[in-house]
Order: sequence, then C-alpha cells, then structure tokens
Amino acid sequence: MVEKKEQLYEGKAKKVYKTSDPALLIVDYKDDATAFNGLKKGTISGKGVINNQMSNRLMEFLEKNGVPTHFVQELSPRETLVKKVSIVPLEVIIRNISAGSFAKRYGVEEGIVFQQPTIEFSYKNDELGDPLLNHYHALALGLATQAEIDTITAYAFRVNEVLKAFWKSCGVTLVDFKLEFGRLEDGTIVLADEISPDTCRLWDMETGEKLDKDRFRRDLGGVEEAYVEIRRRLEEKL
Ligand code: ADP
Ligand code: UDP
Repeated sequence: MVEKKEQLYEGKAKKVYKTSDPALLIVDYKDDATAFNGLKKGTISGKGVINNQMSNRLMEFLEKNGVPTHFVQELSPRETLVKKVSIVPLEVIIRNISAGSFAKRYGVEEGIVFQQPTIEFSYKNDELGDPLLNHYHALALGLATQAEIDTITAYAFRVNEVLKAFWKSCGVTLVDFKLEFGRLEDGTIVLADEISPDTCRLWDMETGEKLDKDRFRRDLGGVEEAYVEIRRRLEEKL
C-alpha cells in the first residue's frame, strides 16, 4: 500500500503529494476554478470529484487505445495515484472547431468546423501568461527535443481521434482541448495532468449548449449542472 507523504505543490486546480514510492504521486482535485491566467477565481461545487473521475475514465480509455498515460489508480473521489513525471513545459492544444483564443486571435467567429484539426503549443509559464510558441521556439528554449515533440504531436492527434469518436457517441462535440505530457524516469513520454471539462470544450451536438468551463469563464450560469450533465453522458458509456 502506497502512503501519502508531504505536499509537493499546490496548483490552481489540484494539489500534488509525494508518496512512499518515489516513482508515484497522489493528485488531489480541488473545487477551485480559475480563468484568464488566474485573474478570475471561483468555486465550482463538486468539480474536483467530477474532474478526477472523468479524467481517470478517459485516461483508462486512451490507454486501451494506444496512448500511454500517467494513470495508476483512483484512490478516493478526489485523489488519484499517478506515475511521477517531469512535465514537458508545453500546453498542447488541439482544435477541431474555432473557439476561444483562436477565434479572438484570428478575428473569426466561433463554430467554424475545420477540414482538419490544428495543433498549437504554449510555453507553460504562468508568469509569462503561457505564450504561444512554435516547435522551433520550443527547441531553441530547450523545452523538448525534436523526437519528443514528434511523439507528443502523434499522441495528441491520436487522443483527438479517440476522444472525438467517444464524445460523439455521447452526443457531444469535442471542440478543442489542452494536454500536458511528461517524461518518466527512463525518458518515455506519457500523457499527464488531466482531461476534463476544465481542459476541453464540449458542446451538446443537438443544441450547441456548452458543457464545460466556458460556463464559468463567460458567466453563463448553470456551471455545476453542466459538469454533472457531462459526467452523466460519460458514465453512460464508460
Ligand atoms: P497549475 O499548475 O496549472 O495551476 P494544477 O492545479 O492542475 O495546475 O496542478 C497540477 C500540477 O501537477 C500541474 O503543474 C501539472 O503540470 C502537474 N502534473 C500533472 N500530472 C503530473 C505527474 N504525473 N507528475 C508530475 N506532475 C504532474
Ligand atoms: N485550456 C486549458 N488550460 C489553459 C488554456 C487552455 O485547459 O491554460 C484549454 C481550454 O479549456 C480549451 C482549449 O485549451 O479547451 C483551448 O483554449 P483557448 O486557447 O481557446 O484559450 P481560452 O479561451 O481558455 O483563453
């Protein structure tokens, strides 16, 4: 039995603890919600439990579909045992439909369905506001090697294919999402962090209703209800 040890880090949405096994960590999901690089703060009651459980089910599903992840075992409604990684400091964003910062940056409406998905990287650095960069910048800054970027890119598109089909079966459109990857001790790249309504845009296929953190970001109301509904849709299938 792995024992929970001292807290290593407290982030905006999760706390991370050491364990008695140096290769494993425990992540503890909070109800705290932030947006706009921490400028907007709030609480979404029950979010920690929903994100923990949803992320775990999706990571298990991705493992079965050829994407290695950090997931080891769900310990409690909010806590999960994961493989410790050294996080590659890149936020990897895949988009199927225009929304959010893409729509703003390029001056287009939300909801344009792309012929093929896009990938973009931001430098995971809160002080700098996670600036957008291309893979040459990532190489120049020594954030990852070319081989790591190639692996991360291939996994990210694979995650998109697997999850797009999965969410479709739940009556949900996968608009865009953010992934983080990390290196195990031996350098193997695995999917880390979380996949949840905090990190994905999920729209009801029939009504276009937003079932994700945009309800909090944009003060749309029904935030808790959207998290409960998206979990219900997932649990019908996984
Ligand atoms: P943030 O740091 O952006 O506020 P969180 O509150 O989600 O985010 O904190 C969780 C932190 O743990 C993130 O910095 C994330 O990169 C990191 N992390 C996620 N999975 C792992 C893992 N398997 N090993 C080590 N660190 C991880
Ligand atoms: N995203 C995230 N963390 C971030 C930035 C973005 O999880 O720090 C997710 C976000 O939920 C959305 C996708 O990545 O699903 C694309 O976000 P976008 O670049 O449009 O940024 P935003 O609109 O959040 O500023």
